[in-house]
Order: sequence, then C-alpha cells, then structure tokens
Amino acid sequence: MTQTIKNIAIIGSTGSIGTQTLDIVRQYPDRFKVNVLAAGSRVKELIEQARIHRPAVAIIADADKYAALHDALSPLGIETAAGSAAIADAMERDDFSTVVTATVGYSGLEPTIRAIRAGKDIALANKETLVVAGELIDSQLKKSSSQVLPVDSEHSAIYQCLVGEDPLTVDRLIITASGGPFRNHTKAQLAGVTVADALRHPNWSMGNKITIDSATMMNKAFEIIEARWLFGIGADRIEPVVHPQSIVHSMVQFCDGAVKAQLGIPDMHLPIRYALGDATRIVSHERRLTIEDYADLTFYRPDMSKFPCLGLAYSAMEQGGSAACTINAANEVAVAAFLDGRIGFTDIYHIIERTRLVTTFVSQPDYDDYVAVNSEARAKAAEIIKSL
Ligand code: NDP
Ligand code: MG
Repeated sequence: MTQTIKNIAIIGSTGSIGTQTLDIVRQYPDRFKVNVLAAGSRVKELIEQARIHRPAVAIIADADKYAALHDALSPLGIETAAGSAAIADAMERDDFSTVVTATVGYSGLEPTIRAIRAGKDIALANKETLVVAGELIDSQLKKSSSQVLPVDSEHSAIYQCLVGEDPLTVDRLIITASGGPFRNHTKAQLAGVTVADALRHPNWSMGNKITIDSATMMNKAFEIIEARWLFGIGADRIEPVVHPQSIVHSMVQFCDGAVKAQLGIPDMHLPIRYALGDATRIVSHERRLTIEDYADLTFYRPDMSKFPCLGLAYSAMEQGGSAACTINAANEVAVAAFLDGRIGFTDIYHIIERTRLVTTFVSQPDYDDYVAVNSEARAKAAEIIKSL
C-alpha cells in the first residue's frame, strides 16, 4: 500500500518534544515531512534543523535572532520570519495539516487557536493551552474540523484505553505521576532543595519548566485540567496516583469495575508517534518494555499537604472562568524565578496563591480576557516576588 506523506508544523522544534518529533520525522520519511519549523531563541539549533529537514519556512520568536536565521537559510530557498505573530500567522498556511504544539507555557495559546480556526489537527504537547483556556479551546473545536491528539504520555495512555469504549461507561480516569525527585522528602526537606536537585527528574528527560512542574507536582495538576478538557470528564472523576516506576502511563476504570491501562518505558517517542499517526500503531524497532524486568510496580495516593500545587487543579476547576489562567501565569513567573535562584522551592506555591487573591477574576472569559488576566497575573506575581 502506498503511504501518503503527512505534512506537519512544529512550534517549539528546538526543545525536548520538538527534537523527539524530528527524530520520528527522520525515521519515517515515507510518512512525515516538516514544512514549518518554529522556535523561541535557539537560532543555531533551528538553522541546523532546517538544513536537515528543508521546511518551507523557519520562524524564530526572538526577533533579535532573525538576521542570523535569514542569512543562513535564504541561500537554501527556505523562507524565514520572526516574532510570535509570524508563528501564529503561519498556522494558516496550506502546506501542512497537523501542528505539533511543542512550545512551552502560555506561548502555545495563540498559535493553537489560530490552527484550530484554520482546521488543522493538533498534536498537543503544550498542556498549558488547555490549562489557560480549556473552555475556549473546547468551544472552538466544536465549530472546527480540527481534532486534538494528545502527546502528553498520560493523556495518550487514556486515549488509547478509550478506543472502542462507550464514553458513557467511563467511571474515572486514573492519572499516574512519578512523584518527581522529591516524592520521599519531608516538608522540611522540601524547603531546602536546590535548583539542581529539582532538575534531576528520576525517570524523564524534559525541558526545565516542566521538570520543575513535575517536582512541585504542578505538572500533575495541569494534567488533571488537561484531561478534563480533552475527555470531557469532571475533575472529581480524575484521580492522580503516584507510580514511581513510570511504566503504567495512566488508566481508565469503567462502570463494570474493569480497569484498562497502557504501559511502556518512559519515552515520549511512542505517544508522539501515536499522535502523528492519527491514533494508529506505527511499527517501531526502538527499545520497548519487557514487563518481566519489572518485579515491582507500585501505586499510592499522593500527599496533597506535601505537594499543595496538586490541589490547585481542583480549586481552579471548581472556580472555573479565568482561575486556571491566573494559576498558570503565576506558576510560569514563579518557576522562572526559582530557576534564576531568586526564590525557594516552596515559595512557588505561596506566590501562586497570593497572585490568585489579587488578580481580577473573570467568570466567562473570552480570548481578550485571557490575554488580560495572563498579563495582570504575571505582573502581580513579579511584584510579590520582589517584595519577598
Ligand atoms: P523545552 O523547554 O524543552 O522546549 C520548549 C520549546 O519551545 C523550545 O523549542 C523553545 O525554543 C520553544 N519556545 C519557547 N518560547 C517560545 C515562544 N514564545 N514561541 C515559540 N517557541 C517558543 O520544553 P519541552 O519540550 O519539555 O515541553 C514543551 C511542552 O510539552 C510543554 O508544554 C510541556 O509541558 C509539554 N510536555 C513535555 C514533555 C516532555 O517530555 N518534555 C512531556 C509532556 C508534555 P528555544 O529553546 O529555541 O528558545
Ligand atoms: Mg505527562
């Protein structure tokens, strides 16, 4: 059977998910071709990727890096552009059908909305988009031909468990969490951890921001919100469970009591491949799970008092409106401050809570409200950090 080539765009191509997506494109040249590459500021890496993959266009968000990009790629006949607006505009190009949203944080929101409006399929890694504006994205999707395929390993696992099932028979989603590097720390020990400690994730190699989110378990809170919008299930039926081995990627329990799980080694290539292949199974010869090597797969309930960020998922979902947008913005600012050594690890949660108290709440936000709340919350979080 001849295979048609799927043309894709990657925003955030120089990051952890972006480079792993390009591994897959390289491994399956008869299936995938990249036509749009976009990155934040690592221009050297972007140029190298463009030389190898020959996209139609390469875009850098950081306009100061534009000259270098243009000078390197225009002799190769590759179009270049700079700035966030150019990335969002590129979502309307007709030379790709699927965008991999591998950018980090709030920056994923605008291009994802533009891609949905243009009818593109979304291979969604950037969970912050659904955290910030899940309700808006949900309503946009209902008016569009776009489909969203999760890249996040837990959501890919749930998606795989749901194939062939009646959604009305789902009782609860069980989202597994490694527990991060500090799962066995006491509260007192958590107060003293360093940036280097927090960046040492036991199972996954990821970008810095999500690695810190994993250490605070904010990542799991975001994933609960992400699951709520992806699968249309109330947060009260989405439960996190700590599973230190990261082999069971998540589970679904059905109305007859049965539990389905998806297992694999902790490696993002599988969920990326599954999303790019429109939820089909593509033959892979990469290292795979040998279940007999795992004598102990353990599970336990997370300690919400030790990891208070986790509880923010439920309070944000209960409050609704712009609550999760504020939490996301404050978290981004606090995580950046922690990575810069300006605040301690346990300050992250307190900065988020204090930012919530002083940021305008909008109960039925539209796109402009999200933009305004995001800016306000960032400014307030920055003030709180300065005052510490
Ligand atoms: P990285 O920090 O490794 O990469 C982020 C990418 O986004 C880089 O290419 C960066 O460019 C780019 N970028 C940053 N800001 C902008 C911007 N304003 N406009 C365009 N591009 C930008 O992050 P990860 O790959 O780890 O994570 C990406 C997303 O995927 C996150 O939302 C994360 O939560 C999610 N995710 C990641 C997983 C993982 O295993 N890494 C697993 C599940 C989800 P540059 O570096 O050139 O500045
Ligand atoms: Mg995940």
